[in-house]
Amino acid sequence: QIVKELMDLYTDHGNNHKEIPLPAGRLHVFANDEIFASLGAKVYDMADNNLRIPGNIHMSYTPDAHVGIGTCIGTTAVWDMADGYVSPSIVGSDIGCGMRVHLTPLSKEDILDKKVRRELIRAVEKMVPVNNRSASTYQDIDLEKVVTHGLKGLPQQYIPDAYTPNRKTSISHVENAQFTFDTDYLEYIQSPQWGRGKKQIGTLGGGNHFIEFQVIEIEEEQREIADKWGMKDGQVVVMIHSGSRAWGAMMGREYKKDFEIWMSKKGIGTRDPNLVFAPINTDEGQRYLNLMYSALNYAVINRHMIAYGVLEGMKEVFGSKVEMPVLYDLMHNYALEEKHDGKSRLVHRKGTTRALPPGHSLNATPYQETGHPVLIPGSMGTASYILVGQSEGVKNYYSVCHGAGRIRSRRATKEQVTVDEFSSSMKVGTDEEILVNHRSLQTILDESPQAYKDVDQIIDSVVGANLATVVARCRPLAVIKG
Ligand code: 5GP
Ligand code: MN
Ligand code: MN
Repeated sequence: QIVKELMDLYTDHGNNHKEIPLPAGRLHVFANDEIFASLGAKVYDMADNNLRIPGNIHMSYTPDAHVGIGTCIGTTAVWDMADGYVSPSIVGSDIGCGMRVHLTPLSKEDILDKKVRRELIRAVEKMVPVNNRSASTYQDIDLEKVVTHGLKGLPQQYIPDAYTPNRKTSISHVENAQFTFDTDYLEYIQSPQWGRGKKQIGTLGGGNHFIEFQVIEIEEEQREIADKWGMKDGQVVVMIHSGSRAWGAMMGREYKKDFEIWMSKKGIGTRDPNLVFAPINTDEGQRYLNLMYSALNYAVINRHMIAYGVLEGMKEVFGSKVEMPVLYDLMHNYALEEKHDGKSRLVHRKGTTRALPPGHSLNATPYQETGHPVLIPGSMGTASYILVGQSEGVKNYYSVCHGAGRIRSRRATKEQVTVDEFSSSMKVGTDEEILVNHRSLQTILDESPQAYKDVDQIIDSVVGANLATVVARCRPLAVIKG
C-alpha cells in the first residue's frame, strides 16, 4: 500500500498538472485540486504496480481515473517501439471501444415533443439490436473482410454517402478506417468467435454503451471551428458509445495465457496477476498486437453499422431524405504506434482518447487544419462535451479523458442512489424530461448520473491543463441503453 505521505510529496507543475514520485516510477496526473484530492490511494497503488513493467517512458492519469482490472481506466502509458513493452491490461478488455458523433439536420424544436422522441427511440431500437436477445441484421456481412480491411472493406451498400459526390464523410471522418495487419494471425481465432462476431456486428451491447440524441450549444470563442465542423447552435447530434462486443473480449483468455507463460518463463511479474505484459518484439507481443488490430477494425465497423441503423430509424420518423454525416469516430481502448519527437512509440490508452491540436500530422485529413473533434460524454442526465486539442497536449502524448469516469461501482450505485434521485436528474414529469428506452429507471439505476464523477469538474481539469478547449456542450434529449 502506498503511504499517504508519499502522495503528498508530489511536484505541482501548475495548470492542473501534478507529478507523483511513486516507489516504482513517476506518475503524471492531470486534474484540478478538487478531483486530485478525491482520487484515493487505490489508484496510486495500481499505478505503482503498472510502473513495475520495464522501460516505460511516460505514465499518466486523466481526471476520470478509477480502478479497473490490472490498470486504472484513465491511463496513458508509453513505450519506445524499438525496445518497449505491450500490455493487454493497459488496453482493456473492450478493445477498440469508442465514441462517435453524427450531425443531423434537425434542431431542438423538431424533437422536443415527447411523442416524437418516443417514436424515434422505438424506430432506432427496431433497427439496432441493443442487447443479446436479438441478433445483428447484417449477418451476411463478410466478417473476415471486415476485420482484415476495416471500414474501407465494407460493402458500399452500407455506406450511406458512398454515392454522394463531395460528401463522403463515412470513411474520412474517423480516427482510423483501416488497421492493416498480418492475416496469418487470424488462425488463432476460434470458430465460435466468428459466429458470435457475425451475430453481434452492428449491435450496441449492455452496460454503459449508449446511443444518445443531444442538442448542442456552441462555445462563443470557438464559433469559427464549430462552423468549419458543420455544427450549429440548437442542432441535434447523435452520440454513440460501443466497442468490439465479444470479438475483442473472446480473445482475452487466449492472449492472457500467452503472456502469463512468457512472464513465468522469464520469472517476472507483479503482485497483481491481472497485469500481464511482454516485450513488443516477441511472438506473444506481435500476436496480441495483430489480434488487437482485428478488434479495432471490428469496433469501428460496429459503430458504423450502429449509426447506419440509427439513420434508418431517423428516416422512418423524419423522411427518407434525412442525412446524418459522421463528425468523428474516436477510440479509447487501444495501443497505437505513433511518432512523437521523431521516434516511434507504442501509446497505450485505456479509457483515454486522442486530442490532437490544429496542424498535427496525425489528424485525419479533413481535420488537419483545425484539429479533430474530441468526444467526452458525461452521463445520460448531464452534459457531454465536444472539444479540440491544444498544442500543450504534447506533455501527455495528446491524450485526454474519454468520459466523466465512474465514481461508484454498479453495486454501490444500486445501494446508495434512489430511483427518485435518478428521476429528478432525468427531469421526469417535466417538458424537459430526458427520455430513455427502458420502461423503468430501476433497471438502469447503475447507469444513473450519480454513478459518475461530475463532468464539469472533469472538463475543468482538462481545459485548465491546456490539453483541450471546449467547442460545444451537448445536452441529452433521448437515450438508448443496452
Ligand atoms: P467507459 O465505459 O468507456 O469506461 O466509459 C464511458 C463514459 O461514458 C463514462 O465514463 C461516462 O462518463 C459516460 N457515460 C456512460 N453512460 C452514459 C450515457 O448514457 N450517456 C452519456 N452521455 N454518457 C455516458
Ligand atoms: Mn466498451
Ligand atoms: Mn468505452
